[in-house]
Amino acid sequence: MTSATLTKPRVMSGMRPTGGLHLGHLVGVLTQWANFCDTAEAYFEIADLHAYTTGFEDPQAIRDARNEMVAVWLAAGVDPRKATIFLQSAVPEIAELHTLLSMIVPVSWLERVPTYKGQIDALGSEIATYGFLGYPLLQLCDIAIVRGERVPVGRDQVAHLELGREVVRRFNHLYGDGAEVLVEPHPTLTEFAEVPGSDGRKMSKSYDNAILIADSEEVTTKKVRAYFTDPQKLRRNDPGRPEVCPIFALWKFVNPLKLDGIAAECRSGALGCVADKSDFAEQLNAYLRPVREKLAIYRDDPVQVERIIAEGTARTRAIASAVLADVKRAMRLL
Ligand code: SF4
Repeated sequence: MTSATLTKPRVMSGMRPTGGLHLGHLVGVLTQWANFCDTAEAYFEIADLHAYTTGFEDPQAIRDARNEMVAVWLAAGVDPRKATIFLQSAVPEIAELHTLLSMIVPVSWLERVPTYKGQIDALGSEIATYGFLGYPLLQLCDIAIVRGERVPVGRDQVAHLELGREVVRRFNHLYGDGAEVLVEPHPTLTEFAEVPGSDGRKMSKSYDNAILIADSEEVTTKKVRAYFTDPQKLRRNDPGRPEVCPIFALWKFVNPLKLDGIAAECRSGALGCVADKSDFAEQLNAYLRPVREKLAIYRDDPVQVERIIAEGTARTRAIASAVLADVKRAMRLL
């Protein structure tokens, strides 16, 4: 190992295999992950146990989404020679750490996490399981088990990580005997790009407004044609307001050099929405083409994807078993 690798921070992040990765994932998260492959010692988790907290009734869907999701990560530039991709459920040390840490976490800490009540209001009380309540603690275990130091999070996830940091401090205080048995993870606050969907809301598969990475070019073009634009621009020559138009917002990611020209022509009425969308659909397909081509290669080679997951999981388990042994020793369980 070189001194350069030693100074790289250990970054940990993950995604639930719920299927349907879209343009928002690509420009928001996966581009960053691809960068982390060079700038950090990166661990990326297939968070399949987390998927059960809200999708426990459909285990096959979680199973089916797993390799497809990793194929998209790889196609988007996540490099398995530089980063470690692992399957959460195949690292049993995470679940064991979760059980051990659950002994010292007051229920009130978990109940006060803002997303707990918010998600129950949004998705219904049937998701209010014991596992769902413990979701932020399981997240901490994902991080702690690889001694993750940095966690890229959006603002809505900061409270989860803060809870995790409190748990680590409590653990080290109770059992550490002056030593830092568990590492306190720090948030790397990330402004994830807001990518609008076809109805102007945030792009999301559950809103049925997303351009999927796996979509064909024809489907992509059709979806772009159906996008909301400025509702006040009814005819081609009407002056438009690019600042309220989702298509204009998407241009930022696909070809930012064109923004000034489009804004001026939209405002003056020289550019109509049909022409702009048609030009955009073409450029978007060109932008996604290399990713889609790579995705096709990984889809055709499930053995390679399985191997990448298996190798990453084995590497993760080597660290995880050492961390778990430290924890058990500190708790006088060994
Ligand atoms: S011309 Fe383009 S930027 Fe202007 S409202 Fe129509 S789609 Fe949006």
